[in-house]
Parts: sequence; C-alpha cells; structure tokens
Amino acid sequence: MSIREVYADNNATTMTAPEVLESMQPFFTRLYGNPSSMHQFGGQVKKHIDRARAQVAALLGAQPSEIIFTSCGTESDNAAIRGVLAATPDKRHIITSRVEHPAVKNVFQYLGQSGYRVSELSVDREGRLDLDELREVLSDDTALVSLMWANNETGVLFPVEQAAVMARAAGAVFHCDAVQAAGKIPIDLGGSSIDLLSISGHKLHAPKGVGVLYVRKGTHFSPWLLGGHQELGRRAGTENVPGIVGLGRACELARECIDAENTTVRALRDRLEKSLLDRAIDASVNGDTAGRLPNTANISFKYIEGESILLLLSEAGIAASSGSACTSGSLEPSHVLRAMGVPFTRVHGSVRFSLSRYTTAEDVDYIVENMLRIERRLRELSPFGRDELPPQAG
Ligand code: PLP
Repeated sequence: MSIREVYADNNATTMTAPEVLESMQPFFTRLYGNPSSMHQFGGQVKKHIDRARAQVAALLGAQPSEIIFTSCGTESDNAAIRGVLAATPDKRHIITSRVEHPAVKNVFQYLGQSGYRVSELSVDREGRLDLDELREVLSDDTALVSLMWANNETGVLFPVEQAAVMARAAGAVFHCDAVQAAGKIPIDLGGSSIDLLSISGHKLHAPKGVGVLYVRKGTHFSPWLLGGHQELGRRAGTENVPGIVGLGRACELARECIDAENTTVRALRDRLEKSLLDRAIDASVNGDTAGRLPNTANISFKYIEGESILLLLSEAGIAASSGSACTSGSLEPSHVLRAMGVPFTRVHGSVRFSLSRYTTAEDVDYIVENMLRIERRLRELSPFGRDELPPQAG
C-alpha cells in the first residue's frame, strides 16, 4: 500500500481554508494600519473588523455588539469565567462538569484552591450529562455554571440549552465552551439562555491566534485584560486584524458548509466507524452515538496501546490522536474517558479520529486498512491480546 498523508485530527486543529487565507493576505501588506488610529490607514481596517464581527455574529445567531475578539479558546474561557466571577463577588459556588477541556477544568481547579466551592457534574458511561444532578447542586449561592457544548475527545453533546435555562432560573450565569461545536452543528443564541460562549478560530478552518467570546447584552462581566479601549473596553490589546478577518470569513464558510458537515462528513465518520467495528478484532466506540458531533469517532482497541497505534498510524502518514498517557502531553490517561468509567484496558487503547470537510472517502478507506493492519500487528505483540486473535490469524 502506498503512503499518503491523511489528516484525521481536526479536533486538535484544522487546516486554514484557502478562502480564509486569501481574505487575510491584504492585512499583512496593504491594510496594515492599527484600527484604533484616526488616520485613513486605521479607518480602512476598522470596517473590516466590523464586517468580521457581523460574520461571526451571523454564525452564532448573536448581535455583532455581543462579539468580543480574543486570542484563542483558552483566553475566551478564562475571560468568561473570571469576568463573571469578578462581577458577582458575593456568590461563592461554581459548577462545571468532570469532562471539560483543561481551559475550563484548570481554571475551576484554581478557583477551588482560591476558596470557591466547586461542583463537578458527573457523566454516564456514554459521556452524557445528568441534568438532575445539576438541578440538585444549583443554589442561591451559585454564581456560574460552565459546561461544554461538544466534548473534544468523544464529540458527545451536552444539553446546554436546558442547562442554561436551569442556571438562569436559579439566578446563575451560564457559560458554554463551544470551541468544538462552532461550525459543526447549528448554534442560535438569539432566543437562548446561554449568557457567554467561547469559540476558537483554529478549530473551524481559521488560523491559530484568534478566538471569540460572546457575551449576551446585559450580562454582568468584568474585562479580564485591561489596557486600551479595544473591543468596546471589554478586551484590551491591539486587534489581530488578519486573524479576525480570517475568522469572519471562516464563519461565513462554516454557515455554507454546515449542512455538508452534517451529511457528508457524518457519512464518512460513520463509514470509518462501521468498517472498524465490523472488521477489527475488538473495537468499541466511546461516547453516545446518538448525540455526537458529526466528525468525531473515539474508538478503543482493547489490550493495545494508543501510543503504539498512533506511532504506526503516523508511519503510514495518518494523523490522529489518543486518549492514553503521554501523547496528549500529560502523564495521565484521558480524564474524559475515565470520568465515563471506560475500563483502563480500553482507555489505553483509545484513538480519536476527527474528520473535516476536506476528508475524502479514499482517506477513510486508507485509515481503515491501516488501522486493521496495525491492530493485528500490535495484538500479536501483546501478551493479553494474543489469546484473542482468531485461530486463522496464526
Ligand atoms: N475548549 C475545547 C473544548 C477545546 O477543544 C479546546 C482546544 O482543543 C479549547 C477549549 C482551547 O482552545 P485554544 O486551543 O484555541 O486555546
């Protein structure tokens, strides 16, 4: 089999779309003014930021004035959580889930060490959130609930709208990390109870270094970065103009592509998953198959190591990621899969494939053939897996 390059790690980052790159180029050369400047160089640029703000707002069903540009999803999450708490100093209880991205999880951990009472909601074996638990822990003292829309490892979707309604009824502010959801599933904040929402450019075919924090009009929120008056005084710092323009264009493209994401990309993901489950020796899906992002497949291969799988996939030119130790840059196996109660033997052998609008059927078939070959090879080496090989495999 000849080696090709297949990128199946789109939940880690995406390729900048050619249309996005093209939209950004003039802002490195001709249109390099500082948008805060009074002269024509500034004025020319400012209107493009306004346009990008409207494009982002259109993807989210928000008002342009509710869009704050940031540097990444992590900044948006930090600014949302810290900004809400700074504006509501009397309340000392905060709620999140056990499967959040570190951009939220570690902020809550820090806040817990700083005197906040933290409730971490659990998930079931499929990664689903229990809203009854949220109802039980909400109280008059709850300042903030922060829940992700789509899980980056499994793609499982949380019922964030229902959770936001419950938070609002209890007098708490609701923040949603929608970094993995934006551009993949429809979001309409118009009639929603979500107060703040984070997105990140590089997850939806815009470049790295730009993100968005949506703050609903009227939400009590103190800016986190202080300095100049950019972003109507809500986020200081000279704007990343090319990144912002690119993100605007990426949001416009995402609106055009969202139907394809939910049909073509979903069909490719299902083809990948079904082929692997049908033909692998022991593979199982992690996460609720009925309520997931269309592009994500998290699959465990029992008794073999995720790191070894990734290494051999990489040798075949395939990029994916794993929920086991080390590859994610941490020493711990995936906190998401552990919170779901996935047995260690399966956590260690988990691989996440995340597709995009650029993935082809040939890419998927190439992944399947290589993954099956790799599973068999690693099982032959594994002291546990060998017994489970079918007799004809030798
Ligand atoms: N939240 C989620 C769910 C993510 O998947 C990520 C990135 O992987 C982030 C936040 C952080 O975004 P960024 O890489 O833009 O800081």
